Amino acid sequence: MFKQIELNYNFNDLEPYIDELTMDTHYSKHHAAYTNNLNVALDKLPEFKNLSIEDILVKLPAISDDGLKNAVRNNGGGYYNHNLYFASLKPGGRNKPEDDLASRIEKDFGSFESLKEKLSSAAMGRFGSGWAWLSANKSGQLQVSSSPNQDNPIMESKGDWIPILGIDVWEHAYYLKYKNLRGDYIDSFFQILNWDVIAKNYAKVVSTS
Ligand code: MN
Repeated sequence: MFKQIELNYNFNDLEPYIDELTMDTHYSKHHAAYTNNLNVALDKLPEFKNLSIEDILVKLPAISDDGLKNAVRNNGGGYYNHNLYFASLKPGGRNKPEDDLASRIEKDFGSFESLKEKLSSAAMGRFGSGWAWLSANKSGQLQVSSSPNQDNPIMESKGDWIPILGIDVWEHAYYLKYKNLRGDYIDSFFQILNWDVIAKNYAKVVSTS
């Protein structure tokens, strides 16, 4: 049975960048529902029950029942994506990358500023609900992309690209405070993004090669 990651901060700790009610609703309602609905769907797929969430997302095409496949795609994506998102936020975390990840960002994007611009424009350009991503492959390369709904690069690349940073641009992530101003939310997101966590995510992808 899958469980939501536990937060090592309080719902009001990200104020004023993300407000307490948004954090509480996002984690306690939205993410809880994705997690519960994933578990309910997996009850009908015993052959999937002992797989990691990453393996489940790669093996989606093997689910023959379309309703179940959509349930696992939407809720398994929602479960995985939000674990990544909530774990990457922290007040007072390192606010820019260092060491290996910083060098790789310079190599692949020119500079940290230019990576932030690419991520922001992927997040702004995603029409409707979805995510913007920074992903890595096992050779350590980085790429920026975006996905609709609760899809992610693992599903889209059959596991070749693993997201290390995800910006949730569903309106539920920002609408209570920012209304239609998605760009202001994205700017705020970068203020509370903990690059220590992103560096660990990156090291994990590269070390499994
Ligand atoms: Mn969300």
